[in-house]
Amino acid sequence: MTLLLYDEIFLKHDTGAFHPENYKRLEHTLAHLKTTGLWDRLKVEKPRPATLEEIASVHGEDYINRVMLISQRGEGQLDPDTPVSYHSYKAALYAAGAPLTAIDAIMEGKATNAFCLVRPPGHHARPNHGMGFCLFNNVAIAAQYLLSRYNLKRVVIVDWDCHHGNGTQEIFYEEPRVLYLSLHRWPFYPGTGDKKETGIGKGEGFTINIPLSGNTSSEEYIRTFKEVMEGKVKDFRPEFIIISAGFDTYVDDPIAGLGLEPEDFRRLTEILLGVASSPEANKRVVSCLEGGYNLQALPLCIEQHLLGLLGSNPLPLDGGGQGEGD
Ligand SMILES: [Zn+2]
Repeated sequence: MTLLLYDEIFLKHDTGAFHPENYKRLEHTLAHLKTTGLWDRLKVEKPRPATLEEIASVHGEDYINRVMLISQRGEGQLDPDTPVSYHSYKAALYAAGAPLTAIDAIMEGKATNAFCLVRPPGHHARPNHGMGFCLFNNVAIAAQYLLSRYNLKRVVIVDWDCHHGNGTQEIFYEEPRVLYLSLHRWPFYPGTGDKKETGIGKGEGFTINIPLSGNTSSEEYIRTFKEVMEGKVKDFRPEFIIISAGFDTYVDDPIAGLGLEPEDFRRLTEILLGVASSPEANKRVVSCLEGGYNLQALPLCIEQHLLGLLGSNPLPLDGGGQGEGD
Protein backbone atom coordinates (compact mmCIF):
# COMPACT_ATOMS: atom_id res chain seq x y z
CA MET A 1 0.00 0.00 0.00
CA THR A 2 1.47 3.33 -1.09
CA LEU A 3 0.18 6.48 0.54
CA LEU A 4 0.16 9.86 -1.21
CA LEU A 5 -0.04 12.95 0.98
CA TYR A 6 -1.42 16.10 -0.60
CA ASP A 7 -3.37 19.22 0.34
CA GLU A 8 -4.57 22.15 -1.78
CA ILE A 9 -2.76 24.54 0.57
CA PHE A 10 0.42 23.59 -1.32
CA LEU A 11 -0.92 25.43 -4.40
CA LYS A 12 -1.30 28.64 -2.37
CA HIS A 13 2.39 29.15 -1.53
CA ASP A 14 2.73 31.99 -4.05
CA THR A 15 6.23 32.53 -5.44
CA GLY A 16 5.15 34.83 -8.28
CA ALA A 17 4.53 34.35 -11.97
CA PHE A 18 8.10 33.70 -13.09
CA HIS A 19 9.54 31.59 -10.31
CA PRO A 20 10.57 28.02 -11.31
CA GLU A 21 9.24 26.64 -8.01
CA ASN A 22 5.56 27.46 -8.55
CA TYR A 23 2.14 25.85 -8.04
CA LYS A 24 2.02 24.58 -11.64
CA ARG A 25 4.50 21.85 -10.69
CA LEU A 26 1.86 20.21 -8.53
CA GLU A 27 -1.06 21.14 -10.77
CA HIS A 28 0.54 19.40 -13.78
CA THR A 29 1.46 16.39 -11.65
CA LEU A 30 -2.06 16.00 -10.24
CA ALA A 31 -3.60 16.22 -13.72
CA HIS A 32 -1.20 13.58 -15.06
CA LEU A 33 -1.71 11.15 -12.19
CA LYS A 34 -5.48 11.44 -12.53
CA THR A 35 -5.44 11.04 -16.33
CA THR A 36 -3.26 7.94 -16.22
CA GLY A 37 -5.33 6.35 -13.44
CA LEU A 38 -2.34 6.08 -11.12
CA TRP A 39 -4.13 8.36 -8.62
CA ASP A 40 -6.75 5.65 -8.04
CA ARG A 41 -4.09 3.05 -7.19
CA LEU A 42 -2.75 5.18 -4.33
CA LYS A 43 -4.19 5.76 -0.89
CA VAL A 44 -4.57 9.55 -1.04
CA GLU A 45 -4.78 11.42 2.26
CA LYS A 46 -4.51 14.96 3.54
CA PRO A 47 -1.62 15.56 5.92
CA ARG A 48 -1.80 17.15 9.35
CA PRO A 49 0.26 20.28 9.95
CA ALA A 50 3.51 19.91 11.87
CA THR A 51 3.34 21.41 15.37
CA LEU A 52 5.59 24.29 16.39
CA GLU A 53 7.46 21.91 18.67
CA GLU A 54 8.13 19.58 15.72
CA ILE A 55 9.38 22.45 13.53
CA ALA A 56 11.50 23.67 16.45
CA SER A 57 13.18 20.26 16.67
CA VAL A 58 15.45 21.43 13.82
CA HIS A 59 14.81 25.20 13.51
CA GLY A 60 15.36 28.11 15.91
CA GLU A 61 12.26 29.78 17.33
CA ASP A 62 13.36 33.23 16.14
CA TYR A 63 13.60 31.91 12.59
CA ILE A 64 10.18 30.23 12.78
CA ASN A 65 8.67 33.49 14.06
CA ARG A 66 10.34 35.41 11.28
CA VAL A 67 8.77 33.18 8.61
CA MET A 68 5.38 33.53 10.34
CA LEU A 69 5.60 37.34 10.55
CA ILE A 70 6.66 37.78 6.90
CA SER A 71 3.79 35.52 5.90
CA GLN A 72 1.29 37.45 8.04
CA ARG A 73 2.49 40.67 6.42
CA GLY A 74 1.60 39.16 3.06
CA GLU A 75 4.94 39.16 1.25
CA GLY A 76 8.70 39.18 1.71
CA GLN A 77 11.86 37.24 0.95
CA LEU A 78 14.03 34.91 3.03
CA ASP A 79 16.78 35.29 0.43
CA PRO A 80 16.73 36.50 -3.20
CA ASP A 81 15.44 33.06 -4.36
CA THR A 82 12.97 32.40 -1.58
CA PRO A 83 9.73 34.40 -1.52
CA VAL A 84 7.18 34.12 1.27
CA SER A 85 3.50 34.90 0.61
CA TYR A 86 0.40 35.15 2.79
CA HIS A 87 -0.31 31.39 2.68
CA SER A 88 3.35 30.28 2.73
CA TYR A 89 3.66 29.73 6.46
CA LYS A 90 0.58 27.53 6.60
CA ALA A 91 1.70 25.63 3.46
CA ALA A 92 5.13 25.09 5.05
CA LEU A 93 3.56 23.68 8.23
CA TYR A 94 1.55 21.19 6.16
CA ALA A 95 4.55 20.34 3.95
CA ALA A 96 6.51 19.46 7.09
CA GLY A 97 3.50 17.64 8.52
CA ALA A 98 3.06 15.41 5.47
CA PRO A 99 6.02 13.08 6.16
CA LEU A 100 5.01 12.96 9.85
CA THR A 101 1.50 11.86 8.86
CA ALA A 102 3.07 9.27 6.56
CA ILE A 103 5.45 8.02 9.26
CA ASP A 104 2.57 7.47 11.70
CA ALA A 105 0.56 5.55 9.08
CA ILE A 106 3.56 3.37 8.21
CA MET A 107 4.53 2.70 11.84
CA GLU A 108 0.92 1.74 12.57
CA GLY A 109 0.98 -0.69 9.64
CA LYS A 110 -1.61 1.21 7.58
CA ALA A 111 0.76 1.72 4.64
CA THR A 112 4.08 0.35 3.43
CA ASN A 113 5.56 3.50 1.98
CA ALA A 114 4.51 7.04 1.04
CA PHE A 115 5.12 9.94 -1.29
CA CYS A 116 4.56 13.51 -0.08
CA LEU A 117 3.49 15.72 -3.00
CA VAL A 118 4.35 18.95 -1.23
CA ARG A 119 5.71 22.44 -1.62
CA PRO A 120 7.58 24.45 -0.45
CA PRO A 121 10.52 22.02 -0.66
CA GLY A 122 12.90 21.74 2.29
CA HIS A 123 16.42 20.38 1.92
CA HIS A 124 18.22 23.76 1.68
CA ALA A 125 16.53 25.12 4.83
CA ARG A 126 19.16 25.58 7.54
CA PRO A 127 18.39 25.78 11.27
CA ASN A 128 18.09 29.57 11.26
CA HIS A 129 18.06 30.45 7.59
CA GLY A 130 15.63 29.73 4.74
CA MET A 131 17.16 29.61 1.27
CA GLY A 132 16.97 28.00 -2.16
CA PHE A 133 13.13 27.96 -2.30
CA CYS A 134 13.01 26.16 1.09
CA LEU A 135 11.30 27.38 4.30
CA PHE A 136 11.32 24.45 6.75
CA ASN A 137 13.41 21.33 6.30
CA ASN A 138 10.69 18.71 5.78
CA VAL A 139 12.94 15.63 5.67
CA ALA A 140 15.04 16.73 8.65
CA ILE A 141 11.92 17.30 10.76
CA ALA A 142 10.76 13.82 9.70
CA ALA A 143 14.07 12.17 10.63
CA GLN A 144 14.09 13.94 13.99
CA TYR A 145 10.52 12.70 14.56
CA LEU A 146 11.62 9.11 13.95
CA LEU A 147 14.38 9.52 16.55
CA SER A 148 12.25 11.17 19.23
CA ARG A 149 8.74 9.76 18.73
CA TYR A 150 9.71 6.22 17.68
CA ASN A 151 13.12 6.01 19.29
CA LEU A 152 14.77 4.73 16.11
CA LYS A 153 18.56 4.52 16.09
CA ARG A 154 19.37 4.28 12.39
CA VAL A 155 17.56 6.55 9.93
CA VAL A 156 18.82 7.18 6.39
CA ILE A 157 18.07 10.26 4.31
CA VAL A 158 18.77 9.65 0.63
CA ASP A 159 18.91 12.95 -1.27
CA TRP A 160 18.83 12.51 -5.05
CA ASP A 161 17.93 16.12 -5.82
CA CYS A 162 20.41 17.66 -8.29
CA HIS A 163 21.48 20.18 -5.63
CA HIS A 164 23.27 19.36 -2.41
CA GLY A 165 20.97 19.40 0.64
CA ASN A 166 23.13 21.75 2.66
CA GLY A 167 20.43 22.32 5.29
CA THR A 168 19.90 18.63 5.97
CA GLN A 169 23.65 18.01 6.13
CA GLU A 170 24.13 20.86 8.61
CA ILE A 171 21.30 19.69 10.89
CA PHE A 172 22.64 16.13 11.22
CA TYR A 173 26.38 16.79 10.83
CA GLU A 174 27.14 15.60 14.38
CA GLU A 175 24.34 13.01 14.58
CA PRO A 176 25.37 9.33 14.24
CA ARG A 177 21.75 8.10 14.22
CA VAL A 178 21.03 9.77 10.87
CA LEU A 179 23.03 8.80 7.81
CA TYR A 180 22.77 11.53 5.17
CA LEU A 181 23.60 10.51 1.59
CA SER A 182 23.58 13.04 -1.23
CA LEU A 183 24.38 12.63 -4.90
CA HIS A 184 24.50 16.03 -6.58
CA ARG A 185 25.87 18.04 -9.44
CA TRP A 186 29.19 19.66 -8.62
CA PRO A 187 30.36 22.37 -8.63
CA PHE A 188 26.89 23.85 -8.35
CA TYR A 189 24.45 25.66 -6.05
CA PRO A 190 24.61 25.89 -3.02
CA GLY A 191 28.39 25.19 -3.04
CA THR A 192 28.53 22.61 -0.25
CA GLY A 193 28.73 18.83 -0.67
CA ASP A 194 32.43 18.19 -1.23
CA LYS A 195 33.20 14.50 -0.72
CA LYS A 196 35.53 15.51 2.14
CA GLU A 197 32.46 16.69 4.12
CA THR A 198 31.75 13.51 6.09
CA GLY A 199 30.43 14.72 9.47
CA ILE A 200 32.18 15.71 12.69
CA GLY A 201 32.48 14.35 16.22
CA LYS A 202 30.13 11.43 16.78
CA GLY A 203 28.66 12.16 13.36
CA GLU A 204 31.96 11.48 11.56
CA GLY A 205 31.32 9.04 8.71
CA PHE A 206 27.53 9.50 8.74
CA THR A 207 27.46 12.09 5.97
CA ILE A 208 28.22 10.76 2.50
CA ASN A 209 28.60 13.22 -0.36
CA ILE A 210 28.91 12.09 -3.95
CA PRO A 211 29.60 15.08 -6.19
CA LEU A 212 28.99 14.42 -9.89
CA SER A 213 30.08 16.39 -12.95
CA GLY A 214 27.40 18.05 -15.07
CA ASN A 215 27.82 15.55 -17.91
CA THR A 216 27.17 12.45 -15.78
CA SER A 217 25.18 9.92 -17.81
CA SER A 218 22.16 8.03 -16.59
CA GLU A 219 24.13 4.72 -16.57
CA GLU A 220 26.94 6.22 -14.52
CA TYR A 221 24.53 7.83 -12.07
CA ILE A 222 22.59 4.61 -11.51
CA ARG A 223 25.75 2.53 -11.15
CA THR A 224 27.10 4.97 -8.53
CA PHE A 225 23.76 5.05 -6.70
CA LYS A 226 23.50 1.25 -6.64
CA GLU A 227 27.05 0.87 -5.37
CA VAL A 228 26.62 3.23 -2.40
CA MET A 229 23.11 2.02 -1.55
CA GLU A 230 24.11 -1.63 -1.54
CA GLY A 231 27.40 -0.82 0.20
CA LYS A 232 27.58 1.88 2.87
CA VAL A 233 23.84 2.44 3.22
CA LYS A 234 23.01 -1.26 3.55
CA ASP A 235 25.90 -1.71 6.02
CA PHE A 236 24.34 1.00 8.24
CA ARG A 237 21.31 -1.34 8.59
CA PRO A 238 18.67 1.40 8.27
CA GLU A 239 15.44 1.08 10.20
CA PHE A 240 13.71 3.67 8.01
CA ILE A 241 14.61 5.46 4.77
CA ILE A 242 13.52 9.01 3.91
CA ILE A 243 14.00 10.29 0.36
CA SER A 244 14.66 13.91 -0.56
CA ALA A 245 13.12 13.28 -3.95
CA GLY A 246 14.21 16.00 -6.32
CA PHE A 247 13.59 15.47 -10.01
CA ASP A 248 15.86 18.25 -11.28
CA THR A 249 18.43 15.59 -12.27
CA TYR A 250 16.13 15.14 -15.29
CA VAL A 251 18.25 15.74 -18.39
CA ASP A 252 16.34 18.85 -19.55
CA ASP A 253 15.64 20.54 -16.26
CA PRO A 254 15.62 24.32 -16.84
CA ILE A 255 17.70 25.26 -13.77
CA ALA A 256 19.78 22.14 -13.03
CA GLY A 257 19.99 18.75 -14.78
CA LEU A 258 22.10 15.60 -14.99
CA GLY A 259 21.54 12.78 -17.47
CA LEU A 260 18.43 11.14 -16.00
CA GLU A 261 15.27 10.20 -17.91
CA PRO A 262 11.89 9.67 -16.21
CA GLU A 263 12.18 5.85 -16.10
CA ASP A 264 15.49 6.16 -14.26
CA PHE A 265 13.58 7.31 -11.18
CA ARG A 266 11.84 3.95 -11.13
CA ARG A 267 15.20 2.19 -11.15
CA LEU A 268 16.51 4.38 -8.33
CA THR A 269 13.35 3.64 -6.34
CA GLU A 270 13.68 -0.10 -6.91
CA ILE A 271 17.33 -0.12 -5.85
CA LEU A 272 16.40 1.81 -2.70
CA LEU A 273 13.45 -0.49 -1.92
CA GLY A 274 15.82 -3.44 -2.27
CA VAL A 275 17.91 -2.03 0.59
CA ALA A 276 14.76 -1.10 2.56
CA SER A 277 13.48 -4.68 2.35
CA SER A 278 15.76 -5.82 5.18
CA PRO A 279 13.92 -7.10 8.30
CA GLU A 280 15.02 -3.98 10.25
CA ALA A 281 13.65 -1.50 7.72
CA ASN A 282 10.63 -3.63 6.82
CA LYS A 283 10.23 -1.66 3.54
CA ARG A 284 9.50 1.56 5.44
CA VAL A 285 10.14 4.47 3.08
CA VAL A 286 8.80 8.04 3.04
CA SER A 287 9.63 10.19 0.05
CA CYS A 288 9.25 14.00 -0.07
CA LEU A 289 9.20 16.13 -3.20
CA GLU A 290 12.10 18.57 -3.40
CA GLY A 291 13.10 20.09 -6.79
CA GLY A 292 12.17 19.33 -10.42
CA TYR A 293 11.26 22.28 -12.61
CA ASN A 294 10.49 20.96 -16.09
CA LEU A 295 6.70 21.16 -16.04
CA GLN A 296 6.27 18.57 -18.79
CA ALA A 297 8.77 16.07 -17.39
CA LEU A 298 8.16 16.40 -13.65
CA PRO A 299 4.81 14.52 -13.76
CA LEU A 300 6.46 11.71 -15.78
CA CYS A 301 9.36 11.46 -13.32
CA ILE A 302 6.99 11.36 -10.32
CA GLU A 303 4.85 8.75 -12.09
CA GLN A 304 7.89 6.47 -12.48
CA HIS A 305 8.90 7.03 -8.86
CA LEU A 306 5.37 6.09 -7.74
CA LEU A 307 5.37 2.97 -9.93
CA GLY A 308 8.56 1.98 -8.17
CA LEU A 309 7.02 2.59 -4.75
CA LEU A 310 3.94 0.59 -5.75
CA GLY A 311 6.27 -2.22 -6.73
CA SER A 312 4.43 -3.20 -9.87
CA ASN A 313 6.17 -4.93 -12.77
CA PRO A 314 9.71 -4.14 -11.70
CA LEU A 315 12.23 -3.40 -14.39
CA PRO A 316 15.40 -5.50 -14.56
CA LEU A 317 18.26 -3.73 -12.79
CA ASP A 318 21.49 -3.04 -14.63
CA GLY A 319 23.92 -5.87 -14.08
CA GLY A 320 21.84 -7.17 -11.21
CA GLY A 321 20.59 -10.36 -12.88
CA GLN A 322 17.52 -11.82 -11.27
CA GLY A 323 15.94 -9.77 -8.51
CA GLU A 324 15.92 -11.23 -5.02
CA GLY A 325 12.71 -12.09 -3.23
CA ASP A 326 9.60 -10.20 -4.28
ZN1 LIG B 1 17.27 20.90 -6.59
